[in-house]
Amino acid sequence: MMRESNGTGVRNFSSKETSQRGRLARVALLSATLSLAITGTVMAHGRHAPPKTSAPQVAAPKVASKQDSGTGPRWLAGDHHIHSRYSVGLDTTTTPPTPILGADAVYPITTNASMARRFGLSWMVATDHGGPNHSKINHDYAYPELLQSRAAVPEVIQFFGIELNTPAADHSSVVIPYGPDEAQRLRDIESKFDSREVFPRSEARNQESAMISALEFMNQQTPKPVLFAHHPSRSATGMGEYGLTTPQEFRNWNDVAPQVAIGMEGAPGHQASSLSRPKLGLATPSDAEAREYGRGAYNKTPTMGGFDQMTAQVGGLWDSLLGEGRRWWITATSDSHVHYSEGGIDFWPGEYSKTYVFADKTPESIISGLRAGKIFVTTGDLISELDVSVKAVGANATATMGGTLASKVGDDIEVTIRFKDDKGPTPQGINPLVSRVDLIRGEVTGPVADKAATKNPTTRVEARFTSSAWTQVGDQTVITYRIKNVTKNEYLRIRGTNTTELEPQPDPKGEDPWTDLWFYSNPIFISVK
Ligand SMILES: [Zn+2]
Ligand SMILES: [Zn+2]
Repeated sequence: MMRESNGTGVRNFSSKETSQRGRLARVALLSATLSLAITGTVMAHGRHAPPKTSAPQVAAPKVASKQDSGTGPRWLAGDHHIHSRYSVGLDTTTTPPTPILGADAVYPITTNASMARRFGLSWMVATDHGGPNHSKINHDYAYPELLQSRAAVPEVIQFFGIELNTPAADHSSVVIPYGPDEAQRLRDIESKFDSREVFPRSEARNQESAMISALEFMNQQTPKPVLFAHHPSRSATGMGEYGLTTPQEFRNWNDVAPQVAIGMEGAPGHQASSLSRPKLGLATPSDAEAREYGRGAYNKTPTMGGFDQMTAQVGGLWDSLLGEGRRWWITATSDSHVHYSEGGIDFWPGEYSKTYVFADKTPESIISGLRAGKIFVTTGDLISELDVSVKAVGANATATMGGTLASKVGDDIEVTIRFKDDKGPTPQGINPLVSRVDLIRGEVTGPVADKAATKNPTTRVEARFTSSAWTQVGDQTVITYRIKNVTKNEYLRIRGTNTTELEPQPDPKGEDPWTDLWFYSNPIFISVK
């Protein structure tokens, strides 16, 4: 059988061993472990009834769940890029291709939500994708299962979304705000604009102009969705090179819909390839094959400390965008398809990567917090809170992540960094410790003339802090630092690591992802008058 998947290419990689047997094995897995009754795996464009589901038999947490149950704004961990079995494979021997349930990603949405709860997430987004007519699969199958999952796992806010086959670019998340019309809104977006929705494929749907139309469409909705670019350098062929997704596209998207196109994955998912343990006979890579994948399935040019080169290089593309004053935020996700213990290259949602947003635990507040850049990200549960505030010495006004401090020429700026690691050991029995925190500083010089610009030469590491420079105040670690005499518009951002690398180094294949952990804040802007 000819099959294709538009996920990681993992299944493409092993297509020669993909067989009816492999497909049946996967269905057997679902049936055995999740008590699913699936009458047929081939969905045949909606002619079959959706599979009946019962509550998945997910193992009880071995660690106490850390979901926040209080009220008021606080740091809420989440993941906006999670696949379920409705990320279908395709049998391309039929015309049009026939979607195959569970052939790209395998788990029911409820399983993903249960795992999100287990690993301490307060919110998640279901982001399935597929080929021709996938908007119907999302609408008719994934959405009803999402509603079941919301009822079954009420501790986790669960948004409906999609991994958009982005016109003229690599994938992106579209996150739909909660609402009675959320399913129809997503169907409208996917059916009108997903570049692989029609068969045969349409070149017209794969032009940047189509993406601009998509963003204009989303920008007119109330409330507006948000969109994050996925694994932006996965297709890049070298350092400083860009693949399917380019700097020009980010600028054009953000220009046309600055409240919708708001950022990118700083750290992509698929970080568990070196841990992959095929043991269930699935049509997934062999042990050796999986370990040939770089972190993030970045096989052409590696990630750096698990982060995309666009984010990880100081003075690189992210800093170039921030140097224009763009509100362009970074996130970290699982891209969960198949867990590493079951032959995949993925962690569960929240198991390794977390996107924290400062918000009330309501869908509306989480979307607002994401849009406002009140976001920090970490891998490996290095930290669980990160508060950064800046104020001019002698003044009262403060600004925090995503915000802007108004100051005067000549002001001294006091920066206070507080972080917290109260999580204890991870489920793997690891309790990584922060070895260093860096304060990064760059100038905001306004829009660039060349939309392909990829550098901000003013950005540098302003200061590096190790334990001798910080104090423990209660359960928080506190660092203070003074920047003298600000004269220009600028921004500050923070990163930290458990390594001794001064800058994140390209990740070798086979690297244990738990040994090379980083956290990143989003920026605070300083506007000088
Ligand atoms: Zn993707
Ligand atoms: Zn994905």
